[in-house]
Amino acid sequence: METLTGAGVSPGAGYGAAFLLRVTIPEPPAGARHDGDPVAETARAEAALARVAAMLGERGAACGGEAEEVLRAQALMARDPALSAEVAGLVDAGVAAERAVYDAFLRFRDELAEGDGYVAERVADLDDVRDRVIAELTGVPMPGLPGEAGAPYVLVAHDLSPADTATLSREVVAAFVTERGGPTSHTAILARAMGVPAVVACAGATGLVNGTMVLVDGTSGVVTLAPGEEEVRSRLADAGAAAEPAAVTGPGRTADGHRVPLLANIGGPHEVAAALENGAEGVGLYRTEFLFLEREEPPSLEEQVEVYREVLAAFPGAPVVVRVLDAGADKPLPFLRPTAPEPNPALGERGIRLFRVYPDILTTQLEALARAAEGTTARLQVMAPMISTPDEAAWFTALARDAGLADAGVMIEVPAAALRAADLAERTGFFSVGTNDLSQYTFAADRQFPSLSPFQTPWHPALLDLVALTAKAGLPTGICGEAAADPAMACVLVGLGATTLSMTPTAVPWTRTALARHTTSDCHAAATAARRAVTPEDARRAALAHLPGLPAS
Ligand code: PEP
Ligand code: MG
Repeated sequence: METLTGAGVSPGAGYGAAFLLRVTIPEPPAGARHDGDPVAETARAEAALARVAAMLGERGAACGGEAEEVLRAQALMARDPALSAEVAGLVDAGVAAERAVYDAFLRFRDELAEGDGYVAERVADLDDVRDRVIAELTGVPMPGLPGEAGAPYVLVAHDLSPADTATLSREVVAAFVTERGGPTSHTAILARAMGVPAVVACAGATGLVNGTMVLVDGTSGVVTLAPGEEEVRSRLADAGAAAEPAAVTGPGRTADGHRVPLLANIGGPHEVAAALENGAEGVGLYRTEFLFLEREEPPSLEEQVEVYREVLAAFPGAPVVVRVLDAGADKPLPFLRPTAPEPNPALGERGIRLFRVYPDILTTQLEALARAAEGTTARLQVMAPMISTPDEAAWFTALARDAGLADAGVMIEVPAAALRAADLAERTGFFSVGTNDLSQYTFAADRQFPSLSPFQTPWHPALLDLVALTAKAGLPTGICGEAAADPAMACVLVGLGATTLSMTPTAVPWTRTALARHTTSDCHAAATAARRAVTPEDARRAALAHLPGLPAS
């Protein structure tokens, strides 16, 4: 049977006819001129930009959640006054509106592509906005998705833009397969939020013939072309058995009753509903940076208090772990500039390192959190990102405690912190392992770079060793990177000593079911077997041998 392999980034299995989305908006001819009325031509360009911005905003508002954040950011690109000025300047010089738009976006694109990780990753989003504006101006229709296709289809593309995927649902799409993208790309994030299986970085995917029946395993990353009936039946049944989301309810626990609180990763109040609907027992990672992005000034103390209180109030009596602002590197902010240009931003002044330069922003945030907690019963915990030394852990913990936040901890995202977890443990209250960055820094492999996405799998034994070392230091140790969203990996993490698991809300029911079907000794055996392996593939196979009922693809 012919297969393609990529990175499985959203668990489960999906089967359907491949639908290839081809987005090619022709480049407007170089040297295209308008008929001599720059005012009318500029107005035409402005109107197209405004229509696209409005469409993106409306789609975002209709979707909510992560999709809304992403589409709102794209709408802002279309509304950027500097871009409009650039277009107007080119039109004034006689360039036709569509070519002026193309050239203006190109200039911004080059600036972005040279920028930091998060910004550079937005190039695809910028291209998508440009294509939509040019399509508006030239009357070329944007390629659409099949409306009522009869049966759910497998959407295959070079890459998917947030505007394409945001309006889809699992009733319409059986799975996503993209040739580009990584575990933290938009396709991956939105697929997980929708609960649709997805495989990204899948070489050869766009060579598929439209209508080919494909079976997509969003856990192993294997895409099987024209599979046999038996193969489809058993793979779908395996995936279903691995997590019949409604089958197990209640708090997270293993089959022998060992409690493992299952928490949600959220980016703000807009994701609280999803966390609650999926039965999260609290929040294990509140990424506060969404409140700070796309702004010229940090949000005021009062604004922060209001937003944090909204989240805390939604979880009475439950843990809510708030991560203080994780800026820098892939999330640059104009009011938190590094002290010098950074040739390698991911290795520069990010996370806690920026707070050493701008301590006031941290103390204001801590004060806002302390005030927000007043009058709520949520068990507020605060933690700092990008900690690499015991000194940093001590500094942050003391500041948090000075602000009245007794329960302070640190993220383990840097190998140095994991290696010296015992020293950090003497200086802080808890650990939360960010497996996304811990993978990035363990393998010196940019987490946003498509061809390096195989390094992002948490099944690498080197990563598992660092998690084990962290847990061994004896502090409560949560996992909040994407690893906890993989049901088999969740069992392994518990076997390594994780005390809580935090994940994208839709993954909570899957993980709950996987844990409920296995004992702590299954989890330990799976963890030990995985650490004895040499490759991530063998580690997964070895772990699954101790976790009956999980798909062994
Ligand atoms: C991580 O690095 O694993 C993490 C949870 O933080 P973020 O993905 O926000 O960097
Ligand atoms: Mg991180």
